[in-house]
Amino acid sequence: MIRGIPTLDDLGDVRGKRVFVRADFNVPIEDGKITDDFRIRAALPTLNWLRERGASVVCATHLGRPKGAPDPKYSVEPVRARLAELAPEVELLENLRFDPGEEGNSAEFAESLVDGVDLYVNDAFGASHRAHASIVGPPHRLPSAMGLLLAKEVEVLLGLRNDPKRPFVAVLGGAKISDKLGVVEALLDVVDSLAIGGAMCFTFLAAQGKRIGESLFEPDQVETCGRILDQQGSKVHLPEDIIGLDAGGNVATWGTNVPDGGKGFDIGPGTAAAFSDIVIEARTVFWNGPMGMFEDARFAAGTRTLAQAMADTKAFTVVGGGDSAAALAEFGLDDDVDHVSTGGGASLELLELGDLPGLAALREAPNAG
Ligand code: ADP
Ligand code: MG
Repeated sequence: MIRGIPTLDDLGDVRGKRVFVRADFNVPIEDGKITDDFRIRAALPTLNWLRERGASVVCATHLGRPKGAPDPKYSVEPVRARLAELAPEVELLENLRFDPGEEGNSAEFAESLVDGVDLYVNDAFGASHRAHASIVGPPHRLPSAMGLLLAKEVEVLLGLRNDPKRPFVAVLGGAKISDKLGVVEALLDVVDSLAIGGAMCFTFLAAQGKRIGESLFEPDQVETCGRILDQQGSKVHLPEDIIGLDAGGNVATWGTNVPDGGKGFDIGPGTAAAFSDIVIEARTVFWNGPMGMFEDARFAAGTRTLAQAMADTKAFTVVGGGDSAAALAEFGLDDDVDHVSTGGGASLELLELGDLPGLAALREAPNAG
């Protein structure tokens, strides 16, 4: 039991039992080929744990965003083929989201999932912030547990939230600010410093009255950003220089005022150095969201410098977020951080709220104490 949530050991003897494992095999697929099987490999410890103890395992996952109906484009077939190589004899159901009952959290669909099943295991951290049928339904019906991957995520992320080694630094970036303002506020209550890059920084810079040119920003969040800066400004580090494209389409470096027609796409070298120093001096670092539009080599330097600092620091380092993890992998630094979370949205929500619908459901399972 971890924080009132049953673990695999709390399932009792699994020999001869049929176990339903909700996994997160939502992997990127191009032309029918899996381009990164990280999420499938990440579930293997749990699948092997169950198989070695004589359980028969049936897995299920969502894949992409089909609209509650079968769509060959989102068939799990490529995942099934890869899973057959990595974990023979493990069954995989068709994409859960082919049934509207999954996202609609229908009792009928949850019943159909547990039909003929003895035990339930949730190892789908990346989906546990959703109150979907396969996440919250089975724990009310069967003895349940969190898998090894989910347990690790919970341990690491709640550890950050509850008792981080200090200084604890968070670095946030990425594109959408409205998604992340809740977590900004929650993090400011626990971190010693919060560095903000990516497109996110422009709404904060606008709140400081800076000129941001044509850079991405969210006008309806300026007021909130201003309030956050008023209340917790001493902990917030914003860029001191910016790289982007000027009105003529040429790469340019500016201070914190972007001229008319210019558009910011990366933090500048001064900012990247300053953020790196903060990361190097920290004892705990959480990073979510690239510092710039790193997919374009002209705007990758800020993210690369930060990723290198994550690799070099002696701090305990945690990365959450699909694009940040992809950036780390692209720079070949993914093995140099302590924990890469398999869930972007889920890691932010767990840090913000300290709980997830999927965890709350497991705490209600008949074998939970
Ligand atoms: P994560 O998946 O790590 O949580 P997000 O999904 O929030 O990150 O954001 C990632 C995206 O943000 C990337 O595609 C990146 O190109 C984009 N981005 C970062 N900085 C900027 C910027 N200044 N302007 C436009 N897009 C940006
Ligand atoms: Mg993303």
